[in-house]
Amino acid sequence: MQSTQISFEKLRKDFPILQRTVRDNKTLVYLDNASTTQKPNQVIDAITDYYKNHNANIHRAVYALAEEATELYEATRDKIANFIHVKNREEIIFVRGTTEAINLVAYAWGRTHIQKDDIIVTTEYEHHSNIVPWQLLTQEKGAKLEYIRMDDNGELILDDLDKYLATGKVKLVTFSLMSNVLGTITDAEKIVSKCKEYGVLTLIDGAQAVPHMPVNIEKLDCDFFAFSGHKMLGPTGIGVLWVRKSVLQTMNPFHGGGDMIREVHKYETTWNDLPYKFEAGTPNIADVIGFGAAIDYLTNLGMDNVREHEIELTNYAIEKLSQINGLTIYGTKDISKRGGVISFNFADVHPHDVAQIIDEEGIAVRSGHHCAQVLMERLNVAATSRASFYIYNTKEEIDSLINSLNKVARIFKL
Ligand code: PMP
Repeated sequence: MQSTQISFEKLRKDFPILQRTVRDNKTLVYLDNASTTQKPNQVIDAITDYYKNHNANIHRAVYALAEEATELYEATRDKIANFIHVKNREEIIFVRGTTEAINLVAYAWGRTHIQKDDIIVTTEYEHHSNIVPWQLLTQEKGAKLEYIRMDDNGELILDDLDKYLATGKVKLVTFSLMSNVLGTITDAEKIVSKCKEYGVLTLIDGAQAVPHMPVNIEKLDCDFFAFSGHKMLGPTGIGVLWVRKSVLQTMNPFHGGGDMIREVHKYETTWNDLPYKFEAGTPNIADVIGFGAAIDYLTNLGMDNVREHEIELTNYAIEKLSQINGLTIYGTKDISKRGGVISFNFADVHPHDVAQIIDEEGIAVRSGHHCAQVLMERLNVAATSRASFYIYNTKEEIDSLINSLNKVARIFKL
């Protein structure tokens, strides 16, 4: 489908929250999509329909409701496989989100595969969820955590990766496909191919990428891939970990309990087939089903169209923001290398003051360290303001943001 055939304005009617007003009857302008996205009726209805008409536990009973619930739940796994180009549905594990996915890898893979003096490599622009689990693991094992640095344009310095790989001690390289602060799109294929030369595994944090651009796991050829449903129109509390089957087969379970077992005896247990070995207990059935509706929604739009819409908005926003007195935009302005996440600061104004002033106009942006304090240290700031776009945002909303930021500039006499 061509983007001209899609009315990104029209689809706003699918999102009930976008119809409401905030703060003294101001129209809501929601620009905090990197944090979480709003939900269309299709997703809300799918969750309600499950509870109203199909509620039962899955994989266990043979009665009609249980079969229906299982079918709806498992259908989402197939939708995800198609969406991210995975042939083998056994490789798709449902988790709570990207954070749990990465912790699962650190625990279930890392604890058996990482030894003293091994190196895990991450980057300076990671979310805390792609740093802290590796700190915990390397500290426990006496291994090392190293960082690929970032240049002043917000891009990774891949010479650092070459240097670490050359030591022969690297076991895992882990990085986000799109930074949640700068929007930088990482050259994943280059990193993965460098790692493959050394037989090093790769983990990609796709939390910001999967919602905003076409992602093809087969082409990326990594070993682990994580993302969250709530950043792509889906409910909170549901996400995906994909693991290459040959790697998954070398991993111990994460959680022990119901559904992940084949047989349990007093002193030993055998495991269920993949992926169920990694899905212990009653899962988040309703939200998996809601996530399936979100995938349908995005599939209908076409991810090329989503990316194109965001390129248009981001170009427009960068051009307008660049004209505001005293405002600095972080990261690259080359749209081919970035997504619709824009972090900025006014000279000496605290980002919380900025967010508060523009909140009076009904505009929601995030201010703070964005769970990326290593990156804040690299940028030499305590915090930034961040506007981030999605399918329902419009140029008029960016104009409202610009007007309110001009007001900030006037208040602080910049
Ligand atoms: N990685 C990145 C790049 C993110 O943007 C986020 C969410 N801000 C996460 C990981 C963590 O995702 P979640 O909170 O859904 O587990």
